[in-house]
Amino acid sequence: MSECLFCKIIKGEIPSQKIFEDEDIVAFYDINPQSPVHILVVPKVHKATLDDLEDGDAHLVGKVTLAAIRLAKENQIAQNGYRLVWNCREQAGQTVFHIHLHLLGGRTFEWPPG
Ligand code: AMP
Ligand code: ZN
Repeated sequence: MSECLFCKIIKGEIPSQKIFEDEDIVAFYDINPQSPVHILVVPKVHKATLDDLEDGDAHLVGKVTLAAIRLAKENQIAQNGYRLVWNCREQAGQTVFHIHLHLLGGRTFEWPPG
């Protein structure tokens, strides 16, 4: 956990472009954006994958989702549409093993996803 990239960002040991923070979550711009708006919403507690979440985390997951929705509106991508993505483990494309919700918008996305 001490080696975790996002834990280091949360602690301020690695710089990031933070756009929101409260006692439970932080949001910052993705360093390698895949769309004109690409924000990561991250719980502060270290959970390596979605499968580490428990029933008691329902409020936290709700907070992350609601923060992403609010940030979509604030970044003017809500009206045309946006995508929220949780990648879980390698085959889904997870590369940072501290859970995070991607907020993507500002362009058209394909479905099914690649
Ligand atoms: P995932 O592939 O779903 O695990 O997403 C990890 C995301 O973290 C990728 O979109 C990366 O571009 C992003 N990322 C990696 N390092 C940083 C960093 N230092 N600051 C911001 N975003 C990062
Ligand atoms: Zn972590």
